[in-house]
Amino acid sequence: MEQMSRRNLLKKTLWGSASLVGLSAMTPLYVHASMEFKGPKVPDVDAVKVSDHCYYIPALGSSPSPENYGMFSNPGFVVTPKGVVVIDTGSSVQIGEMILRQIKKVTDKPVVMVINTHYHGDHWLGNHAFVAANQDVKLYSHEAVQKVLKTDGGKFWFDFMQRNTDNKITGTVVTIPNQTLKGGEVFGMGGVTLKVHHFGRMHTESDVAVEVVEDKTIYMGDMVMRRIANMEDGSYKGTIAGLDSVLSLPVNQYIPGHGKHEGKQLILDGKEFMETIYKNTAKYYDEGLSDFEMKPKIMVEPFMKNVASQWSGYQSTLGKFIVVAIKEYEQSMF
Ligand SMILES: [Zn+2]
Repeated sequence: MEQMSRRNLLKKTLWGSASLVGLSAMTPLYVHASMEFKGPKVPDVDAVKVSDHCYYIPALGSSPSPENYGMFSNPGFVVTPKGVVVIDTGSSVQIGEMILRQIKKVTDKPVVMVINTHYHGDHWLGNHAFVAANQDVKLYSHEAVQKVLKTDGGKFWFDFMQRNTDNKITGTVVTIPNQTLKGGEVFGMGGVTLKVHHFGRMHTESDVAVEVVEDKTIYMGDMVMRRIANMEDGSYKGTIAGLDSVLSLPVNQYIPGHGKHEGKQLILDGKEFMETIYKNTAKYYDEGLSDFEMKPKIMVEPFMKNVASQWSGYQSTLGKFIVVAIKEYEQSMF
């Protein structure tokens, strides 16, 4: 019964109306939920300063667990004269609150804008905290994020994160962005310029990257990472082409959604990884090999042996990546 009523409450807040933002103004039901059922506070993780205005908060692990509170991606923030812009909000309201505490250590300015780089739950479930802190905050994403989260995605990712953290995100209300990005937007923030890029389907069809022009720094979301995790919504050809576009931008610091920030080598390696899998999959597919026959052959490629084999998820998830590559290659023939 208890479980049921919470579920209904969540559904209500999820599907109630477009007034998700208004909900943080605290209807009686909402107060009831947040006071009686709230997962534990996430311990503070100091922000890393990358450039004059750009920071990120490093993940506590490479996949979600009860021990890391589901904090397995890097929320970022940009401090500008016109307020703080947050890029990705983590997997829960508790992570969102932790991000707000770290921002306070750096500036008194409010968070005026949030950008979600794509619809995977570790990049937006924390939105709730920012709306609770400032009702005027604007939540931005590519329109595909909003579409996915309004259909099955919102509930899917909430449940996914609850299951993987032993219900530590309890109290999080699915808060869907309502400002749409297409790529090409430029936000002048009092001398700090943010440029939004969308390169088509890379990690998902909804990916945006945020370039902070004066800092020559770019937030990449999950378009690139030294980690082998989730390719189900992605495209090899799209990622390879998109990373080429990234390489042509006048930036020299790249902040991925997972793992440490780096220089250009992050993008070069990310691209070589995608190319090595896709080209070899195509070659062996044409020779009639199945995915499990391809895998050992791809694993002896120099790039895989020397570089990718160090990445988290290599042993467990490379096979899945090959299956996705086969699917994309087959589709490309029609
Ligand atoms: Zn992702």
